[in-house]
Amino acid sequence: MSERIFIGVAWPYADGPLHLGHIAGAYLPPDIFARYHRIKGNEVLMVSGSDQHGTPITIKAEQEGKTPGEIATQYHQQFLDSWQRLGISFDLFTNTSTANHAEVSCDVFLTLLHKGYIYKATVSQPYCSHCQRFLSDRYIEGTCPYCSSSGARGDQCDECGKPINTVELVDPRCRLCSTTPQFKDSEHFFLKLTAFEDRLLDWVRKQTHWRPNVLNFTTRYLEQGLKDRAITRDIEWGIPVPLDGFGDKCLYVWFEAVIGYLSATKEWAKSGGDEERWRSFWQGEVKSYYFIGKDNIPFHTIIWPAMLMGYNDNLNLPYDVPANEFLTIEGRKLSTSRNWAVWLPDYLSRYDPDPLRYLLSINMPETGDTDFSWHEFVRRNNDELVATYGNLVHRVLTFVYRNFDGCVPTHSNYDVLCKYMDDLSVDMYKLNLNIDESTANMIEAAKEAFRSIDMNLSQCHFKQAIMWAMHLAQDTNRYLDEKSPWKVIKEDRQAAADSLYIALCMISHLKTMLSPFLPFSSQKLHKLLGFKGNVEDDGWQPHIPLPGQKLLSPEPLFTKLDEWLVEEETSRLGQIHG
Ligand SMILES: [Zn+2]
Ligand SMILES: [Zn+2]
Repeated sequence: MSERIFIGVAWPYADGPLHLGHIAGAYLPPDIFARYHRIKGNEVLMVSGSDQHGTPITIKAEQEGKTPGEIATQYHQQFLDSWQRLGISFDLFTNTSTANHAEVSCDVFLTLLHKGYIYKATVSQPYCSHCQRFLSDRYIEGTCPYCSSSGARGDQCDECGKPINTVELVDPRCRLCSTTPQFKDSEHFFLKLTAFEDRLLDWVRKQTHWRPNVLNFTTRYLEQGLKDRAITRDIEWGIPVPLDGFGDKCLYVWFEAVIGYLSATKEWAKSGGDEERWRSFWQGEVKSYYFIGKDNIPFHTIIWPAMLMGYNDNLNLPYDVPANEFLTIEGRKLSTSRNWAVWLPDYLSRYDPDPLRYLLSINMPETGDTDFSWHEFVRRNNDELVATYGNLVHRVLTFVYRNFDGCVPTHSNYDVLCKYMDDLSVDMYKLNLNIDESTANMIEAAKEAFRSIDMNLSQCHFKQAIMWAMHLAQDTNRYLDEKSPWKVIKEDRQAAADSLYIALCMISHLKTMLSPFLPFSSQKLHKLLGFKGNVEDDGWQPHIPLPGQKLLSPEPLFTKLDEWLVEEETSRLGQIHG
């Protein structure tokens, strides 16, 4: 029975290129998850888009002497290019500048207003007398009232991850000129989060399947009590407040950006010709997953659920929010301003996508921060991808290709074997299977890997899942060393064919198991093994090659990397270019 899965992915700000922290935190995990569910035959919708409003964009535009729209379009195009080259398989990656997004956002705003969940209040807003403007969130810096970190912004503290109301900031300064802002009255709209406190707590306490970091953070946050939050700003770049007399104010970017999950689904439905189809991913039997970095947790476990509760009771709340921790770079906290980051477009201009996908999967910051280093990148590529998996594939395919006329050999017990391999639940001891113990163990290991990867992926345990696949590759190497078909073939051609056939089956299993993680090399292996179409078309099951199946001329799946790149790449870190 197929499931329906909605995957919402954090909306990147279109104010700069993506870096590996983004990818490990919020973009690779949902792609693995989406590919896994698609190959299982489930219905998947994965959406996101670039967040084009708000002060990050206007600040960047001012710095570069461009319009905010030019900046937003430039990075949106770059994101699309990066997704394609890294293989991040969105069903729709849109942006917040569309008319559809403005329409849906205004509908949510007006509905919440009519229902009394949004109210108007006069607030004193920071105003820079030197710059002669109201200073919204990111134009103010100061000290965090919660953790006393000095680099907090007017909207959030990156150090402790807590959202901040600008007035709470200690020692506020204008970002542009360092003047201490004055406060001036301005009329704004507020989201009545306090009205949802009890409902949210009831709901969150039932989410025992959430990752402990997400559940604990959210529960603690709720127990401390919520505060109503301003949802409009004195800013020109954004979606104007849809009420007369407020034309000089816009919806606060965080408020409209989270609505993107819903508006993107509506856009996807419209572009598919069935406007009402968005409902199939928001109502009824569908599980909604939101993939984000840990700095985004409260927006997805508290604020967005509150907005949904208030807007329309019939829309699904998040089923899971598998937020990742952070990726450090060479042992230090990633910093874009200090250029202590590995930029995705740079990476993709020099290396293949799968080695990065591999490293970030097996070293994913799921339960704690993890580190990226170029040394580790080279080591994992050479010792694991190339030596364990790639060489296994290459030596089997080359040997078979040369010694069996470029075709898959026939196993002496093929009929019974395929009955057994085809069905994960068949107990081999009930079949009259004439195979030796190490072959039986090999097949059992493959079945266990399939089951374990399945279970781990369904629970968003990506690191565990890919480790199971790599163990199977190691087991297959050991099996081949023991069987030594390259020696055996001289005396007993059929015995060599039998062990090689088993090895080909294992390789074929590996291309399926690894396809959510390593889509490019899995597809390549699919073709090398002589299969037609796409690797994901064959489903999540042991998929064994037919005896006589024609192989393609073997090519290595991965390339060994030179140690010298470590020094070269590391020296780029922290360099600021004019
Ligand atoms: Zn100023
Ligand atoms: Zn803080």
